[in-house]
Amino acid sequence: MSTTLDDLGARLIADEGAHVAHNYHPLPVVVSRAEGVWVTDVEGKRYLDLLSAYSALNFGHGHPAIVAAAREQLDRLTLTSRAYHNDRLGPFATALSQLCGKDLVLPMNTGAEAVETGIKVARAWGYRTKGITPDAATIIVANGNFHGRTTTIVGFSDDPTAHDDFGPYAPGFVHVPYGDADAIAAAIDENTAAVLLEPIQGEAGVVLPPEGFLQRVRKLCTERNVLFIADEIQSGLGRVGETFACDREGVVPDVYLLGKALGGGILPLSAVVANEDVLGVIRPGEHGSTFGGNPLAAAVGLRVVEMLASGEFQTRAKALGAHLEPALRALIGHGVTGVRIAGLWAGVDIDPAYGTGREVAEKLLSRGVLVKDTHGQTIRIAPPLTIRATELDWAVEQLKHVLSA
Ligand SMILES: *Cc1c(COP(=O)(O)O)cnc(C)c1O
Repeated sequence: MSTTLDDLGARLIADEGAHVAHNYHPLPVVVSRAEGVWVTDVEGKRYLDLLSAYSALNFGHGHPAIVAAAREQLDRLTLTSRAYHNDRLGPFATALSQLCGKDLVLPMNTGAEAVETGIKVARAWGYRTKGITPDAATIIVANGNFHGRTTTIVGFSDDPTAHDDFGPYAPGFVHVPYGDADAIAAAIDENTAAVLLEPIQGEAGVVLPPEGFLQRVRKLCTERNVLFIADEIQSGLGRVGETFACDREGVVPDVYLLGKALGGGILPLSAVVANEDVLGVIRPGEHGSTFGGNPLAAAVGLRVVEMLASGEFQTRAKALGAHLEPALRALIGHGVTGVRIAGLWAGVDIDPAYGTGREVAEKLLSRGVLVKDTHGQTIRIAPPLTIRATELDWAVEQLKHVLSA
């Protein structure tokens, strides 16, 4: 436990531990307020948020334009279900499909639901359009993937913590090494409906594929009549200095899976975005969600898409990432063994001689910086895209202190 922990915080953590299921191992800080890139704990201590709720807070905490859109909608209309039309869903879907350069949007709530929806769409497309034998469709996935926590999705995770003891697992998924286009080419057969990939693997530790990989996947999928589904739930919406991580290679997938930042840091909002020839395979009644496409989420999502349409946040992420990269690389050999970075999204591998990722995260916490470890030795840095260069510099200074102590 951190030495910075005060009595009130300790009490709240104990209460939480007594009545909240232990499906997470949070850092010992109890946040009660936040603004922009700074969060404040119950005792008034401030911390720089370098995690941004796994990129759900790309625009920072309480962005005034997003909060205003939510407030205005709260007073008018929040939920209709899709049994009726509402006046916010159409404008949101129009704006999002334009941002993606696609025809249609299927709105859901969480990221895992978007992935599940993508899987259903791919299978239905496989049977109804490609002509795959009933119930034989397969989807190619990558080792090291993270696509969410539902039973189907954890069935094709190779992380034992996510996967083990939750079977029996849904069949129909074929694994290949991440970044290996030859392995994908070899794995495709007449039953392959789709290749499902993160264009950058976030939970795996911000793992970038080799250059040209996404272009090769695109080409293979086109040539072999297979859908390319890009899970951009964490990598998309400005994080990497482009609207989508696929844009780094000028690649357009058949299906975008979006979530996290789409909800503006206010509510869960996810979407599957594709052209009519793909998403059009879903007929009325075959898929849905009570809250999917609700007017409150749509109003927030519309504002988020409007903010992204100007390109201002993408440009900012690219410039800030270019600023951060040399500062992080300078730590290699000084407690850091590797740095992977794309836009304002970095995975920093900690030399085990300097402690685990968790230990470094706890020491950073006591210096007022919040980061999250992943897979033991890696810390992930993904601040709101609204952070200032001077704030990034200060955070790197704190990391330097932690690694020199
Ligand atoms: C977070 C995440 C998901 C799951 O999103 P939830 O909203 O937590 O269900 C799926 N794919 C990727 C790449 C993610 O980072």
